[in-house]
Amino acid sequence: MHRRLLLGYSVEHRPIGAQELGDPTAGIRVLVVGCIHGNERAGISVARRLETTSAPQGVDLWVIDDLNPDGAAADTRQNAHRVDLNRNFPYGWLAAGRPGDQQYPGPRPLSEPEARIAYRLVLRLRPQITIYFHQPLGLVDESGGDPRVERRFAALSGLPLLRLTRYPGSAVGWQNHRLPHTTAFVVELPSSNHTSPSAARLARAVLTLAGEQPSREGRSTRPPRR
Ligand SMILES: [Zn+2]
Repeated sequence: MHRRLLLGYSVEHRPIGAQELGDPTAGIRVLVVGCIHGNERAGISVARRLETTSAPQGVDLWVIDDLNPDGAAADTRQNAHRVDLNRNFPYGWLAAGRPGDQQYPGPRPLSEPEARIAYRLVLRLRPQITIYFHQPLGLVDESGGDPRVERRFAALSGLPLLRLTRYPGSAVGWQNHRLPHTTAFVVELPSSNHTSPSAARLARAVLTLAGEQPSREGRSTRPPRR
């Protein structure tokens, strides 16, 4: 089953949507975000490829191909308010700098509509696994959550597993804190000048990882409200 949902709008009123694949009542929920930094768009092709596949048995797969369409249109890291969305989440959020700064976190946590869209969807779905694609480092970041999940994705994708700095107000930092026993992590694809695992391989890695998750935990979890 494929369902397209409108989640909300960006600052410049571009629609932000998600595609839901699989069984909405499945015990395992997985969320993939193809792009949060507008100048790091390689993950969008992975997301679009996922949207043409089917979710593994027992998995409800959600895909947001682009959470920052204004930044993607302008080729900027930040959104149209010149906020780094990946510093705008409400865990460890720190006021710093000014609009347009590389990592400007916004005037307050969740000040940005794009961050609020992800926040609300995550709290509604409570995904066991969430993957955010970035560029250009070419690695899987040990982002918190269950390192076995991150290590497995690294093996499946062919990218090395490394631990990057954990930044205040990041999407995965917030999620791993807010939803213990789930795993949100960053996948840094290489820059476009470097050889990268193909979108097909990365999409397969997502599906394999999702299909391997034990469903016991899932059954005891309340399915998301519609
Ligand atoms: Zn990034």
